Amino acid sequence: MKGLADEPNYSIELLEGGATLRDVIETHICEQTVAEKNAFFVADLGVVTRQHVRWQTHMPQIRPFYAVKCNSSPAVVEMLAALGAGFVCSSKPEVVLVQSYGVAPENIALGSLCKQLSLIKYAAKNDIDLLACDSETELRKIARCHPTAKLLLQVATEAQDDGEETSMAFGCTLKSCRHLLECAKELGMQVAGAKFHVPSCCTDPQAYTHAVSDARCVFDMGEELGFSMKILDIGGGFSGSEVQLEQIHHAIRPLLDMYFPPVSGVTLIAEPGSYYVSSAFTLAVNIIGKKVVARDQHGQPLEELTLNDEPEFLYYMNNGVYGSFASKLLDETIPAPFVHKKAPSAEEPVFASSLWGPSCDSLDQVVEHCLLPELSLGDWLVFSAMGAHSLGEPSAFLDVQRPPVHYVISADDWYEIQDAGISLDTTMKNFSLVPYSFRFSPQPEAFSAPA
Ligand SMILES: *Cc1c(COP(=O)(O)O)cnc(C)c1O
Repeated sequence: MKGLADEPNYSIELLEGGATLRDVIETHICEQTVAEKNAFFVADLGVVTRQHVRWQTHMPQIRPFYAVKCNSSPAVVEMLAALGAGFVCSSKPEVVLVQSYGVAPENIALGSLCKQLSLIKYAAKNDIDLLACDSETELRKIARCHPTAKLLLQVATEAQDDGEETSMAFGCTLKSCRHLLECAKELGMQVAGAKFHVPSCCTDPQAYTHAVSDARCVFDMGEELGFSMKILDIGGGFSGSEVQLEQIHHAIRPLLDMYFPPVSGVTLIAEPGSYYVSSAFTLAVNIIGKKVVARDQHGQPLEELTLNDEPEFLYYMNNGVYGSFASKLLDETIPAPFVHKKAPSAEEPVFASSLWGPSCDSLDQVVEHCLLPELSLGDWLVFSAMGAHSLGEPSAFLDVQRPPVHYVISADDWYEIQDAGISLDTTMKNFSLVPYSFRFSPQPEAFSAPA
């Protein structure tokens, strides 16, 4: 996580005169094809702002705190800071990055439940007071390094019980919440509210309603002990789809109105991460290796290819799960990519294919199965919705670098942002906006959709 804040100046290409995201991808593929065929991202910042508008439309009473660990691109953070979002951080470099855009300490929360001492001390020194906590160990640690912190007790949600693979085995039960509250009281700590986190793999909006009721119990217990409980944090888990956002809002709205009405003076916040960035980033990777294996009629791999067998292709890409496809290791499914070929032929047959990263490690499988036309070394694959968990530093033992990000925004989105009062010279000082220029002859037919 070194140097998050080291790249303060970046240019954003303004898409005017009918230029599309696809044109930008085509341009960079053409440029990379004569260069080193390195992977790259194209990020549409208009998506981030539209997601913000969508949030304000559907969840007007809940203030978003963006979860920086999902994507710490400076442009994303600067844009969200300008739009007035708060931030939830899980490391010191993230806090430093957010602070570098002038975000005030009361708009920063620490969401991790196992915080490094250095992070807690840094928060104490910088008046960052909102800290999540779900155990006595964490509570004692915070009491020692940050006695004026305002704690948000994280309650477990039942969504975490099904599926043993969910990595969110965090949050305390209602029973242990009482113990924690008593403990905080003894230590002279302040508890300011409760939070929960329904992981995005949970598709049942009921998980949110149960969690809101549980949070009310924690508020009651806290108030009984004399704490001023004023913040409810409903966590993250928002996929980015408008339908899901509506469903969740529909499910929790009546409970919020009943348990946390405006007259209660409780501030409602949430921690959307993937929601903002997922569909804003597109990743282009290059095919660097290829193998063909045989399968029998039932799809079982065979040793040798005979005439009647269906071939299956294994393609190796110049990026994998130890780089930009890290979300695969978090149990997410990577959808099949678009294929970009220099000379596609019409009516190409498609074959069973699997897509792998470059590490030759059996975990480094990005897409288990998809149907693709036969590809050659040097062909490009384009993955959409790659904005979440894809911009960390790749594992150092691999010869993979973090792909560069090329930022764009459409003219329409840009004018809308300016109408909202955000301007280049004041709020977003590190941007420079350059008009996109067609640097190639467009070949829109070069893209084919996933089969
Ligand atoms: C990662 C994270 C989130 C965001 O989760 P999404 O599923 O991407 O919304 C929210 N809060 C905390 C504390 C996190 O660590």
